[in-house]
Amino acid sequence: MKAVSCERGTLSVVDLPSPAPSRGQLVLEVRRCGICGSDLHAKDHADELTDVMDEVGYPDFMRQDTPVVLGHEFVGEVAERGPGAPKEFRAGAPVVSFPMVRAAGGVHMTGLSPLAPGAYAEHVLAEASMSFVVPNGLDLDIAALTEPMAVALHAVRRSQIGKRDVAIVIGCGPVGLAVICHLRSLGVQTIVASDFSATRREMASRCGADVVVDPAVDSPYTAAGESRTITEAQQLFELAVGSMEKLRRVPGWSHLYRIADKVGAASPKRPVVFECVGVPGIIDGIVRAAPVQSRVVVVGVCMGTDHFRPAVANGKDIDLRFVFGYTPLEFRDTLHLLADGKVDASALATGTVGLGGVARAFEVLGTAEAHAKILIDPQSDAVSP
Ligand SMILES: [Zn+2]
Repeated sequence: MKAVSCERGTLSVVDLPSPAPSRGQLVLEVRRCGICGSDLHAKDHADELTDVMDEVGYPDFMRQDTPVVLGHEFVGEVAERGPGAPKEFRAGAPVVSFPMVRAAGGVHMTGLSPLAPGAYAEHVLAEASMSFVVPNGLDLDIAALTEPMAVALHAVRRSQIGKRDVAIVIGCGPVGLAVICHLRSLGVQTIVASDFSATRREMASRCGADVVVDPAVDSPYTAAGESRTITEAQQLFELAVGSMEKLRRVPGWSHLYRIADKVGAASPKRPVVFECVGVPGIIDGIVRAAPVQSRVVVVGVCMGTDHFRPAVANGKDIDLRFVFGYTPLEFRDTLHLLADGKVDASALATGTVGLGGVARAFEVLGTAEAHAKILIDPQSDAVSP
C-alpha cells in the first residue's frame, strides 16, 4: 500500500506492506485523515515529544531517526475483520476509531509510534473494541473530525462550564475552534474568542463565538462587558470590607452570607478561560490578565519548559486545570453529537490533499493561517490544499 513515511523531518510517499488484523482487530481502508498540530510538531521535534511521553510513562513514542507513518484522526471503511471482531463491522462500513492498538505486547498510540503505523496511508489497523460505525450517513470530512472534536469535548467537560458563565477562548486554531463549537452546542450564552489572525477570528464567528477580539487591540477579558468581574486586588478588598459593612448590620449575618456563598452570589463573577495556544509565556499572560478567580483550562500543549509566577495566580485565586486526550465514551459521544447535528464542526475542515500533497500541506499549515484542518484523502490526486 501507499503511505507517507516521516523520518528525520522529511515526509515521503513510500510503499509498505498492508497491515494484517490480529484477534479483535480491523483493517480500515482510509477515507480521510486529519493533519494534527502534534503531527506538525512531531515531524521536526519528535525527540522533544519522546522525552515528554517517556516521562508520563510511554517509552515507545516515535523518534526522529525512526521512520513512522503519522495519522491519528481518521475515518475508514472496513476492509478486513480479524478473528473475533464483531459482525457489526461489515465490509465497507464507515468507521472511526480511538487511535490505539495492541501490538508488540502492549498498547500503542496509532500514528505516533513506529509500533502502530497511522492513517497517512491507504490502510490502517484499528481495535474493533475501540471502533464505532459512523451513523446517519455522516459526511466523511466531518466524521474525520471526531478525534480533534473529542479532545475539545474533554476540555469543555473538565471545565465544568455552565450556560451562564462567560467563556473566553484564547487562540482560534483547530483546538480553539473545536472548543467554541462545543460551547455553542452546550448553550453557553457568552463566548469570547481571541486571536491575532483576522481569518481565524472569522472562523471563530462561524463556529459560534459571540464576540471576537484581536488581542493586539482589545482585551478578551473585558470584551464581554461583564461588570461583576474583578481584575484588581484593590477591588476585591473593597468588595470584602464593603459587603461586611452592610452585612454586619443584619442579625444572623453569617447565615445570610453562607446562603449567598452557596448560590455563588458572594463572590465576583469569574469567566472560564480556555488556553488553546500552547506556546511559552501564554499561561503567565493569562494568569496576569484574567479576572480574579478565573478558571483556566489549559488545552494547548506547550512542549518546552515554560515559566509563570505562581504567586500571581495565588494572589488572584486562579483555578488552573490541565487537560489531555479523551475517554472512549467521550470519543463515542463526540461521533454522535456530530452525526445527530448537535455540534456543527463544518467550519473546521478547510482543505483536502492526496498522499502526494501531505508535505505541501505541512508547509501551508506551518506558515499560513488560511486553514484550520487539512484532511488527507488517499484516493485524491490533489497535491495542494
Ligand atoms: Zn490530534
